[in-house]
Amino acid sequence: MEMESNKIFDILIVGSGLSGAVIARESAEKGKKVLILERRDHTGGNMHDHVNDAGILVHDYGPHTFHTNDQKLINYMCRFAKWQEYRLTCGAKINGQFTPTPFNFATIDTFFSKDKADEIKLALGREYPGKSMVSILKLLDSSITCIREYARFLYDNDYSLYTAKQWGISPTEIDPSVLERVPVRLNYDTGYFEDAYQVMPEISYNDFFHSLLDHPNIMVKLRVDANDDISFKKNKMFFGGEVLQKPVVYTGAIDELFTYKHGRLPYRSLHFEWVIEEKESFQEAPVVAYPQAEEYTRITEYTKLPLQKVGNRTAYAVEFPVDYQKRDSAEPYYPVITAASQEIYMRYREEVLRYPNLYVCGRLGDFRYYNMDQALKRALCVAGEIF
Ligand SMILES: Cc1cc2nc3c(=O)[nH]c(=O)nc-3n(C[C@H](O)[C@H](O)[C@H](O)COP(=O)(O)OP(=O)(O)OC[C@H]3O[C@@H](n4cnc5c(N)ncnc54)[C@H](O)[C@@H]3O)c2cc1C
Repeated sequence: MEMESNKIFDILIVGSGLSGAVIARESAEKGKKVLILERRDHTGGNMHDHVNDAGILVHDYGPHTFHTNDQKLINYMCRFAKWQEYRLTCGAKINGQFTPTPFNFATIDTFFSKDKADEIKLALGREYPGKSMVSILKLLDSSITCIREYARFLYDNDYSLYTAKQWGISPTEIDPSVLERVPVRLNYDTGYFEDAYQVMPEISYNDFFHSLLDHPNIMVKLRVDANDDISFKKNKMFFGGEVLQKPVVYTGAIDELFTYKHGRLPYRSLHFEWVIEEKESFQEAPVVAYPQAEEYTRITEYTKLPLQKVGNRTAYAVEFPVDYQKRDSAEPYYPVITAASQEIYMRYREEVLRYPNLYVCGRLGDFRYYNMDQALKRALCVAGEIF
């Protein structure tokens, strides 16, 4: 990028996902001139959506539902778009049969004989009185035989197969403790999230980002890889060959920023196969897991996310987890958190501390899986630190 750019901004932001866009807005409202560099051909990062050839709104990087318990965060989102209440329902197909997820009493009725199902439900009620959810791990460790049988059925036919595909390992390599926070319902309730606020944009996430970035102090340059212009030498940060002392917010991958000098951080990626079909409905819920399918993990049907009436037509995306390093076009989706990857990450964090004007955040900068509300909270916090 031309050197001129260095003079036209008070703050440089790399990445126009939720993290970068929120910090841009906060800066602009404080009177700062903001330059955002985004290497994709659109803003919005992984929340980007668009209307496809069949007239159906789809999410390019996987299904996104905004959910939070924090009223301040939902209020912030409401400043820039209208939202509709939306309670996501999910399910799984096991042995060709649909069941809601988190698994609930309907799951027991579907996969066990009536007598056995009654025995399991009674035992769960006795063991966990007053509770509406319990972790699958607790059920696997239960001293009650029928509860253990139920948990084992779920583990063998869903969790272990799904987790193995998701992370590219064999089911036998999975330590059940990774399922510590995976809940099983102890009633017939449905709904994927428990948060107080669960919403979807009335128009689109794209519309939300247009409004968020619509400020005279914000300039966005698309299709620009900031790492082509950022460099580090002798504890100084350079942009386009000039020393840069203005604040820089970087929301891309932290290892890439420092040209992988401490090694690569591991990610799992996804590949989507998009299908448009001439039928009103393809599956029972917007998001359905297919644990027993050979390669794909889940399918999202966008006419149900939220309900879109487009005649006798539907569109869905089949999700294949893939190794991030092996596919050139792959995006880094899920950080693989291990002791070794955390050690590498901490080395990059120490690197960041050398540059007082550098703020690294967002799901790629912090090398953490953030839900949107967590990314928003962190972005507001970083904006507060800068000013
Ligand atoms: C499949 C999937 C489903 C999800 N579903 C949900 C959900 O239902 N609910 C929920 O709350 N959260 C969900 N999330 C999480 C959500 O996507 C993130 O919280 C959010 O997108 C984080 O925003 P971000 O700005 O930190 O990162 P991103 O959205 O990744 O934005 C980073 C941006 O920086 C750009 N960039 C990177 N490097 C450079 C560079 N060198 N130069 C220029 N630009 C660069 C990228 O192109 C990208 O646009 C989901 C995530 C995935 C992977």
